[in-house]
Amino acid sequence: MRIGRVASVTDTGKRRLRNEDAYVCAPPLFAIADGMGGAQAGEIASQLAASAIGEADRGIHGEDAVAELVQAANARVYRRAVEDPAAAGMGTTVTVALVDAKERSVTIGHVGDSRAYRIRGDALEQLTADHSLVAELVRTGRLTPEQAADHPHRSVITRAVGTEPSVDVDTFTLEALAGDLYLLCSDGLTDMIDDDEILEQAKAGERRPDAVAQRLVDAANRAGGADNITVIAFEVVEGDGEPEAAPESETPEPVDAAVAAVPAPVSKRGAGKGGRALALLGLVVVLIAAGLVVWWSIHR
Ligand code: CA
Repeated sequence: MRIGRVASVTDTGKRRLRNEDAYVCAPPLFAIADGMGGAQAGEIASQLAASAIGEADRGIHGEDAVAELVQAANARVYRRAVEDPAAAGMGTTVTVALVDAKERSVTIGHVGDSRAYRIRGDALEQLTADHSLVAELVRTGRLTPEQAADHPHRSVITRAVGTEPSVDVDTFTLEALAGDLYLLCSDGLTDMIDDDEILEQAKAGERRPDAVAQRLVDAANRAGGADNITVIAFEVVEGDGEPEAAPESETPEPVDAAVAAVPAPVSKRGAGKGGRALALLGLVVVLIAAGLVVWWSIHR
């Protein structure tokens, strides 16, 4: 057994100005982080988490390793939130999938309301349970799934990475079968389209990861694109060897996407500070020039 084709698509959506989703697509490791917080803090949180996960050693396996990875992401986001007043209180969801070809298994680690799904045969199964207010209310019978689907507080999550010194991570391991298609996605997908449509789009895309990921993002945008949308799709197939990446041109990424296993916030913040310093210098020069003109007009 091995990982077959893999694909990832992220999109800002139709209503948000920034993309606060980040992801890692580094077979056998996959992850999605959906940030939350004021100003740019959500973006910083998700990218810090993704960069921490992206630095994982190759060859890690098992639930403890996945939980440790999410804890490392938690520590990184939390430290920044404590040190940087602009980022105080920020957090992010994290959903990780780690494929173990030798064990023929997929280990999932999960915090928040991003989701992992599996399509096996003709059936779509949600693998993760959302850590969200409405999901808790549905689980305790106080809301129906229909009421939850358009509840005004459906984006409130009850567990996040980076808001506390440590985090409670759900982990579990599933047997993988050749032919399985796995999806990781942010709530910008699942708030816009339901499970039936996810399955429909997967079939319409002939279960090709690149086609399915793009179709799902397009469908969420057609349904309103109220939030950032990120989808990772990968298949498990018979045989040995390296996974096949989808051709670059078939997994287009928007130019402004906050995508990365690389921590962009650092350079972005640097550029911001540099820009401000330059503006300040310009102001000083203008003030000195104005002062000289006044002095000259008085003393000539
Ligand atoms: Ca979101």
